[in-house]
Amino acid sequence: MSAVMPTYGRTNLAFERGEGAYLTATDGRTYLDFAAGIAVDSLGHAHPHLVAALAGQAGKLWHVSNLYEIPEQTRFAERIAAATFADALFFCNSGGEAMEGAIKAARRYHAENGAPERFRAITIEGAFHGRTLATLAAAKNPKHTRGFGPADRDLGIDGFDQVAFGNVNELRVAITPETAAIIAEPVQGESGIRAMPEGYMQALRQTADEFGLLLVLDEVQTGFGRTGKLFAHEHAGITPDIMATAKGIAGGFPCGAVLAVEKVAATMTPGSHGSTFGGNPLAMAVANATLDVLLEDDFIDDVAVAGETLKRGLTDIAEKYPAIIDEVRGLGLMVGLHIKADIPNGVFVGELTELGLLTVPAGDNVIRLLPPLIVREKEIAEALAIIGQACAARS
Ligand SMILES: *Cc1c(COP(=O)(O)O)cnc(C)c1O
Repeated sequence: MSAVMPTYGRTNLAFERGEGAYLTATDGRTYLDFAAGIAVDSLGHAHPHLVAALAGQAGKLWHVSNLYEIPEQTRFAERIAAATFADALFFCNSGGEAMEGAIKAARRYHAENGAPERFRAITIEGAFHGRTLATLAAAKNPKHTRGFGPADRDLGIDGFDQVAFGNVNELRVAITPETAAIIAEPVQGESGIRAMPEGYMQALRQTADEFGLLLVLDEVQTGFGRTGKLFAHEHAGITPDIMATAKGIAGGFPCGAVLAVEKVAATMTPGSHGSTFGGNPLAMAVANATLDVLLEDDFIDDVAVAGETLKRGLTDIAEKYPAIIDEVRGLGLMVGLHIKADIPNGVFVGELTELGLLTVPAGDNVIRLLPPLIVREKEIAEALAIIGQACAARS
């Protein structure tokens, strides 16, 4: 067998280098990258500011452990705290690890406030929170849980109750004296770019307040400018108590973070949680450099404009080819094409790849367009032309 465990259904394609929104494969062919490593390469490939930050740090110091002060980490945390609802951050290396930390922080808060019986979290149908055991138990997606433990008992990890997407009444009924938190993605990514219905996010916040629960948002995919705001909850005008982030946080360098308000963060005392690699100088140098660009005047507003341009163009294509695309959805540069049931999304993704455009399949027969946040008119026009061409070839 292959020496790499067969957990991924891989495309037979390897890349050698990238620049901006373009990737060059080992066979020399160039591709327009509207996958961005699944919403990770937020500033595209080989961004000069990020390359300089990484190379500069690489020559100084890579890793020292969280036994010591890490000034680059403190600096990034202070900048994020200043730009968001958060009072403090915990650093880790991935989205799943950030969600684990978020779940632990929610439980810890109640335990430290005299309610250790409050350990359960309510999650939303269609959720994706990672591939660790607890995050699988939280999301309850049978495609991901099969074979990893008793499905009817949360894989053996008790503590998650799931309610229907968009149904506030069902959510309220599911709350018990053991409930600690509500966990939700502002836009569900893996299950097919499902944005929250109007008013739902506000209802989650209001319900959490009413019952003394914490609102935990999973902004692993939606965060760091992806939806045309620094974080997607800003669209709804509410703030969470705890938030998990990762993917785009450091432009492709592995990194994740848990953000929390003070009353929660204060309960995560020394020894309560940890991560060997979390927030090391190398990751933080790149995360700070990524943030330099994201916080430039107009950068994130331009992402919102680019998202509108992309969606408008896709809507035109969908109207021309209703037998192929029946819906365009999403927020900012997190866009989904709902493909008609008789065309498997994976097949269409393959056809787009053949034409030189990289995209990502998602649940519900959706194709995700997650370009680097630096794409503008030129790259968008090129992507639209390829998608139009792929539709024409099928008609
Ligand atoms: C990707 C993703 C995760 C998991 O992140 P990993 O870095 O793969 O562990 C969790 N939640 C959401 C919403 C994601 O999109």
